[in-house]
Amino acid sequence: MILKYLKAREWAAIAACVVLIALMVYLELEIPGYMSSITTEIVSPDTDMDVIYGDGGMMIACAFASLVVSIIVGCLAAWIATSLSMRLRDLEYSRVQSFSLEEMNRFSTSSLITRSTNDISQIQMTTAMGLMIMIRAPIMAVWAIMKILDKNWEWTMATAVAVVVIITIISVIMLYAIPRFKRIQGLTDNVNRVTRENLSGIRVVRAYNAESYQEEKSEAANIELTDTNLSANRALAVMFPAMMLVMNGLSLAIYWIGALLIDAAALPGDKMVLFSDMVVFSSYAMQVVMSFIMLVMIFMILPRAMVASKRIQEVINTEPSIRDGPGTDAPRQGSVEFRNVSFRYPGTSGDVLHDISFTASKGETVAFIGSTGSGKTTVVDLIPRFYDATDGQVLVDGVDVREYKLNDLRSRIGYVPQKAFMFKGTIDSNVRYGDTSGSVTEDQVRRAVRIAQAAEFVEAKEDGYMSEVAQGGSNLSGGQKQRLSIARAVCRDPEIYIFDDSFSALDYRTDRTLRETLRNEISGATTLIVAQRIGTIMDADRIVVIDDGEVVGIGTHEELLRSCQVYLDIARSQFSDEELGL
Ligand code: ADP
Repeated sequence: MILKYLKAREWAAIAACVVLIALMVYLELEIPGYMSSITTEIVSPDTDMDVIYGDGGMMIACAFASLVVSIIVGCLAAWIATSLSMRLRDLEYSRVQSFSLEEMNRFSTSSLITRSTNDISQIQMTTAMGLMIMIRAPIMAVWAIMKILDKNWEWTMATAVAVVVIITIISVIMLYAIPRFKRIQGLTDNVNRVTRENLSGIRVVRAYNAESYQEEKSEAANIELTDTNLSANRALAVMFPAMMLVMNGLSLAIYWIGALLIDAAALPGDKMVLFSDMVVFSSYAMQVVMSFIMLVMIFMILPRAMVASKRIQEVINTEPSIRDGPGTDAPRQGSVEFRNVSFRYPGTSGDVLHDISFTASKGETVAFIGSTGSGKTTVVDLIPRFYDATDGQVLVDGVDVREYKLNDLRSRIGYVPQKAFMFKGTIDSNVRYGDTSGSVTEDQVRRAVRIAQAAEFVEAKEDGYMSEVAQGGSNLSGGQKQRLSIARAVCRDPEIYIFDDSFSALDYRTDRTLRETLRNEISGATTLIVAQRIGTIMDADRIVVIDDGEVVGIGTHEELLRSCQVYLDIARSQFSDEELGL
């Protein structure tokens, strides 16, 4: 399954491993032969030391050659494993990049992180270690068995019994351990989630004295993981001594049987042959048992790797629900139109938006207002296709958004999210964010920062535009982040601006100057503003009032004050009747 991600050169390396491992097995199986001849030589009446030195030298040479081959195989296996894991990480990363919010929500961020780190390490480890065992065990098993088959049947029987006992012991242990190993991955997700939540919510945790509460949660997740790990590993702890016991038992059995056989032999010559046979046989028998142990180990390593591989492939094989359309050469003007749009979040039952229709022509400012949860963010999220409408059509420049190549569509839009997001880097890199071609000039960055009313605080900084921005923008205030986030959109010089409640972190004065500057400097662009404050949107060309996912009024501020009760209620909650001119 995961093997299909291997390339030709890695397959070639695997083939080389097979050949080298066969050579290694051959060399190792030669050693007992020399040992046998040395034994025969020693017990013979006229011992020739030259033969012993010669054979001993060959034994050392075989062992050394096998060591060299083993190192080469180790390097090859490590190379194959790291190439594979790098490819998987690449594939997973680019797939996750193409995911829409729907898929992100489905997998959850913490699971996606474990899947692209921990699970891939698991595969890498299994490939590096497993490759050697997987190739070696079957070759060794077959070859060593062939070497002992024509020998004494009593010894062969003893070896067969040992193999059966070992397979039984390991199988029983594995039946117990494997399900636990499988659970470990899921529990790792869990620990990851709790840790993330704890770290990103640290202020809330501190403010509510919830350290011990968080600790309990983290401890619960930790204990569950530890217990599962312990019980799985306890089983393994039993396994190794059990295997050693059987192997030593087998040696003992072979010598015991050998002693009886030698005792029963009549001629001294026969006794000698039996003795040397016994020494050789016990080495081969160990190899046979070892190779069966390795075979069973494969079944131990594989299930964990299979879980990891399944989890990785789930990500790689998930088709993003939002994909490029055929493409369009619609002229860039900046009009946005909703035609009878309804929307339901994936996996939920009720529609969040019902039959929404409005238009924003080139250069117009259209604002959305309504109570929290009424669906304003959802409306603007449909324009850059964070989600697709369930029913109806969203059109940009007269063309359905689903027709566009995503890059083309999104390059027409300057989107400022509700919660400003900063990347680690500098103020400059955050403002020119996404400009991979390097075509954005320094002046453009400065202009954008000036329009977004951020120039004052940026220039007051020691390093100005090159000032450091920490991960997540933690060294900036909410309002500063928000203004830089607006500058980022302005810097792209798009045809359509979407401000999703982007002014709420600003004080009233900055809010007003910012809007005035925007109106003057980006007058050709179409602007969609989601807002809470009537003051922010009063002068919009059109205001769309949304209530419970439905449009309950469209018009200018004055028109809506007269015709729309919902709007009037919102306005009255923020201004007195005199201020509203009622
Ligand atoms: P607003 O921006 O007006 O405050 P939203 O558009 O954010 O409202 O939310 C509208 C409704 O959609 C809310 O009832 C909210 O619970 C629901 N909602 C928002 N995001 C999701 C989501 N990812 N999955 C399911 N429901 C959601």
